Amino acid sequence: MLNRRKFIALSAFGSLAATIGRRASAGHVAGFRKGPVVISTWDAGIQANRGAWEILGKGGRALDAVEAGVMVTEASQNCCVGLGANPDRDGFVTLDACIMDEFANCGSVAFLERIKHPVSVARRVMEKTPHVMLVGSGAQQFAIAEGFTLEEQKLSPSAQEAYDNWLKKSEYKPVINIENKGDHGPSAPVRFESGEWNHDTIGMVAMDIKGNLSGSCTTSGMGFKMRGRLGDSPIIGAGLFVDNEAGACTATGQGEDVIRVAGSHTVVELMRQGLSPEAACKKAVERIIRIKKEKAKDIQVAFLALNKKGEVGAFAIHKGFSYAIKAEGVEKLVAAKSIFS
Ligand code: ASP
Repeated sequence: MLNRRKFIALSAFGSLAATIGRRASAGHVAGFRKGPVVISTWDAGIQANRGAWEILGKGGRALDAVEAGVMVTEASQNCCVGLGANPDRDGFVTLDACIMDEFANCGSVAFLERIKHPVSVARRVMEKTPHVMLVGSGAQQFAIAEGFTLEEQKLSPSAQEAYDNWLKKSEYKPVINIENKGDHGPSAPVRFESGEWNHDTIGMVAMDIKGNLSGSCTTSGMGFKMRGRLGDSPIIGAGLFVDNEAGACTATGQGEDVIRVAGSHTVVELMRQGLSPEAACKKAVERIIRIKKEKAKDIQVAFLALNKKGEVGAFAIHKGFSYAIKAEGVEKLVAAKSIFS
């Protein structure tokens, strides 16, 4: 079974941290005022940040960095996003991505199939169309017209194995019926169970040498989701938001609950009011918990934010969310604080 499917709380990323020569640290992270900084979700963020740093470290623009950074993850067949990821419950990999720059330009694609780099298609939507969002076959048609290759419709070996296992006991849930309405049901895929959490997103935000902010977010969404389901990741204001005066934020976890509170936008607005990135992320998490009440124990959501001073912070519902930071002379994984430990 893929290690990308299951994040095993702190012990797993502790060992990864050791392989890069630094231990994951917890708690508040000081600002990186003196230069560029990039942060991204999960252990895969270490590699993604290195991709972004190729640009940031040479004085390049944050927008170029956040595209290049998450492309590393999209291209990886061993991680959590892109064409190697878990399919929907009908066996198709459908991808969502968005990108936003320092001028509030933004682009997004959703329910996109057979295209390796959805984040780059999102950027083309931003730069070459009068629209913000393209979905499904229209997004694919646009991608092909822009010269992207239509990849083979085939699951990676690990995704095929995961899908076959899921089919054995899934009963093709969630079943669509009136009783189920408003309830995520017992088979909601992004669940927190015994310290493990399925996750399939990389979100990244960065500040460049000029102090400008940009962000990107790309995902295959929940594994084994209903066909046609979109989460927060391609939705500007939910999975990602950038305001060059206040800060930038990205989200991961159960997208439905991020959308409910316009999560990333909320965090950025709280930073504008003076809260630190960590405090802003915490407030947004608390808002979700107030809405979900006791059901909050069954879901995971995490926010990751960067403010205009170069300070970074995160907060999650459950323990086990890590994020990667890269700045001049700094490369590390950080364990986010959480409501439930
Ligand atoms: N936020 C993603 C979604 O709901 C899933 C994840 O981050 O794991 O599609």
